[in-house]
Amino acid sequence: MIPYGHQDIGDADVDAVVAALRSEWLTQGPAVPRFESAIADACGAAHAVVVASGTAALHVACLAAGLGPGGLLWTSPITFVASANCGRYCGADVDFVDIDSATYCMSVTALAAKLEAAERVGRLPDVVIPVHLAGLSCDMAGIGALAQRYGFTVIEDACHALGGTYRDVPVGACQYSCMTVFSFHPVKAVTTGEGGAITTNDPTIAERLRLFRTHGITKDPALFEGIADGPWYYEQVELGFNYRMTDIQAALGASQMTRLSAFVARREEIAARYDSELAGLPLSLAPRTADARSGWHLYVVRMAPGATVDRAGLAARLLNAGIGTQVHYIPVHLQPYYRSLGFGVGDFPEAERYYADALSIPIYAGLSDDQQTLVIEAMRAALR
Ligand SMILES: *Cc1c(COP(=O)(O)O)cnc(C)c1O
Repeated sequence: MIPYGHQDIGDADVDAVVAALRSEWLTQGPAVPRFESAIADACGAAHAVVVASGTAALHVACLAAGLGPGGLLWTSPITFVASANCGRYCGADVDFVDIDSATYCMSVTALAAKLEAAERVGRLPDVVIPVHLAGLSCDMAGIGALAQRYGFTVIEDACHALGGTYRDVPVGACQYSCMTVFSFHPVKAVTTGEGGAITTNDPTIAERLRLFRTHGITKDPALFEGIADGPWYYEQVELGFNYRMTDIQAALGASQMTRLSAFVARREEIAARYDSELAGLPLSLAPRTADARSGWHLYVVRMAPGATVDRAGLAARLLNAGIGTQVHYIPVHLQPYYRSLGFGVGDFPEAERYYADALSIPIYAGLSDDQQTLVIEAMRAALR
């Protein structure tokens, strides 16, 4: 069975985890800051904070941005549910901005129009979370310009985009955002089993992220309200969580980071081969833009007119040939939980059109040329 995505664990990764297990520290040791430095370096950001998952990263990012009850978060309907749920965790309202028909990322035109309407009724968002779907950066200059004008905080959901670039700058450099969030789930470019990170250039934000990661507890005397009466003293100054990453995971992450560019280069190669060998089939191939170099987390095709099978038929034919696929994503606003908040069919038509015919086909660093040949041949057989 060829899955749509898979981790790539090498001997050096195994050795790094074993070394962590044999070390003094299973958590809160030196591997966490080592992994954080590797992420900050790769992204060109001043700070990186690692946490227990990408979802935890989104949650603490929203908290650090000051999102709370009465607040408002906007994101893309074509994303994993966590990009929206993080707003709900904070007690804020959540709304969506439809996607661009060419890139499947948040449409800057739709965002501008929605902001204009929101300003008229006095309900502008506090936080906007654009999602770099499949690894392709959103139009961050466009979103950044709107953030300046309307005063919202931008948190990039770059769970798909580690190793990608935007205008030749790594995703995660936060040139047009306050924070960028990553995930290290096994299907993502780099894995720690479960894990996540936030990058930022703002030292105050980085400090708040660390505070929310560990119960809201600080040992920094500068943040104390009271007076330390001994070396044991600490204060809980916010309501935080235990969202820490273990040293076992961080050791794996730091080891994986040494291969990030190799991982992305291999994914790029696979994407280029799909581009050339699937051309001519009744499909729209994965989008590219002039501004971005994708991290190629996913390779998304869409059914075009003239196909003899529909999307479900294609997925079934591929499954028969031992090839796994997935749909990224069911529009979040159509999930029962969000429907219960008042959303429904027709709210975000471009996202709904995308959902009707999109399919993610296998792409991951460990996919061999022979395996990719099988995928290509099965696609041709199904679509010709
Ligand atoms: C994976 C993912 C998340 C959540 O990350 P976890 O590490 O699984 O919690 C959030 N947003 C997007 C777009 C993702 O792909």
